[in-house]
Amino acid sequence: MADPLQTRRGTVPVPTFLPDATRAGVRGLTSEDLRGVGIEAVVVNAFHLLRRPGARVVQGGGGIHRFMDWDGPVLSDSGGFQVWSLIRQDPARGVIRDREVIFREPETRQKWILTPERVMQIQFQLGSDIMVCLDDCTDAEAPLAEQERSVERTVAWARRSREAFDRLVSGLRGAGVPPRLFAVVQGGGEENLRRQCATALAGIGFDGYGFGGWPLAADGALLADPLRWVAESLPPSVPKHALGIGRPDHLVHAFSLGYSLFDCALPTRDARHGRLYVFRAGYPGRGVRPGTAFYRAVHILDARYRIDHRQLEDGCDCATCTRHSRAYLHHLFKVGDASAERLATLHNLRFYVRLTAALRAPVPGA
Ligand SMILES: [Zn+2]
Repeated sequence: MADPLQTRRGTVPVPTFLPDATRAGVRGLTSEDLRGVGIEAVVVNAFHLLRRPGARVVQGGGGIHRFMDWDGPVLSDSGGFQVWSLIRQDPARGVIRDREVIFREPETRQKWILTPERVMQIQFQLGSDIMVCLDDCTDAEAPLAEQERSVERTVAWARRSREAFDRLVSGLRGAGVPPRLFAVVQGGGEENLRRQCATALAGIGFDGYGFGGWPLAADGALLADPLRWVAESLPPSVPKHALGIGRPDHLVHAFSLGYSLFDCALPTRDARHGRLYVFRAGYPGRGVRPGTAFYRAVHILDARYRIDHRQLEDGCDCATCTRHSRAYLHHLFKVGDASAERLATLHNLRFYVRLTAALRAPVPGA
């Protein structure tokens, strides 16, 4: 079992799920809502916050915690993955080079230059508690030469990030406990590259490590082998973050491989589309293990829920389940009431809180 996550804003038991508050908010919810469902830490995105409203605006508002009224730990992702996927969709948007990443806004043509040092500076302006090095993403399907270059750059950028971070921390006089710094492991689907990248990053020394790159195969299956190679190549008790994972069964699988931090846009996005996760009978009390069908998705817009007056999930203690029926939720979605998405999001996040709590508990009979 991994150690709890220590941050300057408290200790978080693991495993834990961090909702994506990408642009300093989980869509439709307030920070009070997040606390209410039992969320302990959130993820924001340094690149997206740089684009809007600007790191200086957040800094001027007292830092990310005050800006979004969230006093728990905040992990700021570097945006390496997001800038890579935006440029991959449309190469005219920018270029990734050894020295830096250049990105142009499609509409205004405003140019952003991201360097490992600049990305550290942005995260200090935000004032996050866990910062992440800029990495050079690829996916498992990319040619070998591209994977090799990505590992080379990721390690070089992590070294530059470490130096910039140490310099910026030494400038935080009298600020108490410093933030923590995570690096991201690349290497696509290549075992030697994944292990080489993890070992090189561990040699530089970080407080935690993320599994980088697109975490799923073309058929949607979890990249379990690459996740395992990386976990095996890193120190055992250090926090491991399965970036962008994910689906409840993928989360459980990655946890069994040694990962303890998870973030994903899926539960909140699915909620907004009326896709709600519910535990199957007996779960999570029976113990959640990889390979068991412990949950299913309720598509609340299905006609059968129009006259279903039962609560969404029997045994769920969230505000949605304890107060409203499936028929009412179905109705709110049908008429396009904004509260439908909010109530659905509250339930899906509570599902992840209950899921990770079950993984922390000893499995009965194990
Ligand atoms: Zn519920």
